[in-house]
Amino acid sequence: MPENNTRDTVILGSGCSGLTAAIYAARSNLKPLVLEGHEPGGQLSITTLVENFPGWPDGIQGPELIENMKKQAVRFGAELRMAHLTSIDLNKHPFELNLGNEIIHARTLIIASGASARWLNLPSEQALIGYGVSSCATCDGFFFSGKEIAVIGGGDSAMEEALFLTRFASKVTLINRTEHFRASKIMLDRAFAHPKIKFLSNTTVEEVLGVEEKDVKGLRLKNRASGEESILPVSAMFLGIGHTPNALAFKGMMDLDEDGYILTQNNVFPTLNGKPIPGVFACGDIQDRRYRQAITAAGSGCMAALEVEKFLEEHGR
Ligand code: NDP
Repeated sequence: MPENNTRDTVILGSGCSGLTAAIYAARSNLKPLVLEGHEPGGQLSITTLVENFPGWPDGIQGPELIENMKKQAVRFGAELRMAHLTSIDLNKHPFELNLGNEIIHARTLIIASGASARWLNLPSEQALIGYGVSSCATCDGFFFSGKEIAVIGGGDSAMEEALFLTRFASKVTLINRTEHFRASKIMLDRAFAHPKIKFLSNTTVEEVLGVEEKDVKGLRLKNRASGEESILPVSAMFLGIGHTPNALAFKGMMDLDEDGYILTQNNVFPTLNGKPIPGVFACGDIQDRRYRQAITAAGSGCMAALEVEKFLEEHGR
């Protein structure tokens, strides 16, 4: 395996937090290497209009916002690489990162690998991913023009997906497992007011129909109050049920909470047995289960990069 020069900092992840960290680290002349990971651009790259990022009064498309951040990071000297981590050794100094076909050494590490879409984990759902089951309305909505679609979830993601899908679908049924909606009032009001969106509360998906045909034909639903089952004929099911942090690779190396989020002190210092790990920083959704916003991810990315700079300075670089 070829061995690379030691980098001052390596950033894992190229979403909003990782790229903001890259901009700041690059402007400090640290020539950061950004490993883009499994989902380059992170969650913003599969969203539509972002209306709450300050500075864009009319909103900006998520992929465009991410593309701008990439350009900005590269302009100041960041290197972006389509690669992801196979394993990591934090006991070696500099840290040793295995990319499968290459070993990289890093004096500091910024973990910004974010969170990934959650699934219901029904066997029928898993069998039909890509055949009418999707977690990305922006990517796959187009394929269901004039069709009836179901969206699962009761948070802002589900509302956003349902509203977006009305562009293509003849009808969108939003299925929430309780009667309580986590979505913000503005999003909920918009979805409620949309003539193409129908709501089914207190309902769970028991099975996605169409496994044999390799094409979604409908959903077998259960009303949680009455226990009654019904069939909803739809051509697609989109998941909008939240995300899971991509922190599995760090299990045992740092403290994680019960859902797998990295526990941090002051938002950016991961700990092991409650003590900060020198040279390791985390930012964005992988350590933030409370806010999970593009702007808070960017904010903690900035903080992580500033801490890297301070750490390297204190260690004679
Ligand atoms: P949330 O955690 O807010 O909501 C997840 C939803 O999915 C809940 O309704 C939850 O139900 C449901 N759910 C979770 N697991 C299952 C399951 N196994 N089966 C059925 N339903 C399930 O996640 P979001 O992704 O919606 O939002 C995350 C954050 O991002 C929020 O802060 C949100 O405001 C923000 N966001 C903002 C947007 C915007 O401003 N345009 C767009 C999208 C997200 P239950 O309540 O029962 O747990």
